[in-house]
Amino acid sequence: MTGQAALTDRFNRRLNYIRVSITDKCNFRCMYCMTGTPFPKLGQRDILSYEEILRIVRVGIRQGITKVRITGGEPLVRRDLIAFLTELSSYPELTDLSLTTNGLLLGDMAQALQRAGIRRLNISLDSLKPDRFKTITGVDAFHTVWNAILYAHELGFSPIKINVVAMPGVNDDEITDFAELTQIYPFHVRFIEYMPIGNPATTTSGKPLLTPEIRRLAAGTGTLVPVIGQTNDGPARRFRLHGAPGELGFISPVSEHFCATCNRIRLTASGQLRPCLLSDSGIDVTSALRSRASDEVLAGLFQEAAAMKHEKHRIGLDEKKRERIQSSMFSIGG
Ligand code: SAM
Ligand code: SF4
Repeated sequence: MTGQAALTDRFNRRLNYIRVSITDKCNFRCMYCMTGTPFPKLGQRDILSYEEILRIVRVGIRQGITKVRITGGEPLVRRDLIAFLTELSSYPELTDLSLTTNGLLLGDMAQALQRAGIRRLNISLDSLKPDRFKTITGVDAFHTVWNAILYAHELGFSPIKINVVAMPGVNDDEITDFAELTQIYPFHVRFIEYMPIGNPATTTSGKPLLTPEIRRLAAGTGTLVPVIGQTNDGPARRFRLHGAPGELGFISPVSEHFCATCNRIRLTASGQLRPCLLSDSGIDVTSALRSRASDEVLAGLFQEAAAMKHEKHRIGLDEKKRERIQSSMFSIGG
């Protein structure tokens, strides 16, 4: 790190990971993320340009950011993505650059992404059944996405993480099928508890499907052996089915929040630095960027955003105490 104080919050958590949403647009309409239309669409002026994002990342790097994930909306729909990623991956301080995608355009772009320096991919896939996939995402594209995943694997992206939002009455009967995938492929399948944020609280009615139950269903496939992770692994509790090449992960924002080890800050497409996925608060950086603020001023905005980070989020099991999060996942980036 060169020159500036590390980004640390009031609870002594060191923030070294930024998730950057480069667009709020998406070519899917996932039932847990983008239903409940209409959505206010950001105009071109409302979203940060690539140059502006790169500047914010550079300022973050001076404060100890070493990890960047590109997300959205759907990041692969934004034009000139490859040139942007190529520039980003040339920053030597970044030890990890990854991308989260719904996979629809991945088949066409995988090689270019690899050339641009992306090595790790998270791909969302909530069903292995084509009809259900269409119901969940609004697009009849299971085979396109699945073939893209296999192609990315063939090209050597590693690890490939498959994000599955577990929803009762929607895909809970496929937990074992997803678990079995890890016995065939070296994929990391991660089950994510549905987070009730933004508009689409309509997805699941009744009892939420939480990690203990998801784990019980996955363990029907075989013994879950814990995988010893590293401190900066992120929130997934990791396991391997005995002898399997792949892994299973359980991400439990609702039943067991993982805030104590959170090392993240987020940049939305509209230019807000967000200290927490599950809170509406943030610091606008657009005006500063567009009024030619110095790097020191921008660094100050990072520090302000870090200082806003709560000890823990208030999405929980108790509906009455639950904070209602207005922001949608597609605008913050998941
Ligand atoms: N469009 C890309 C994708 O779907 O992979 C990237 C953006 S998406 C907002 C990032 C991640 O957030 C996805 O894995 C998605 O499944 C997850 N996600 C979206 N809404 C969610 C919700 N309400 N609860 C849990 N996960 C959610
Ligand atoms: Fe689009 Fe990703 Fe949201 Fe699905 S989860 S609607 S793919 S942004």
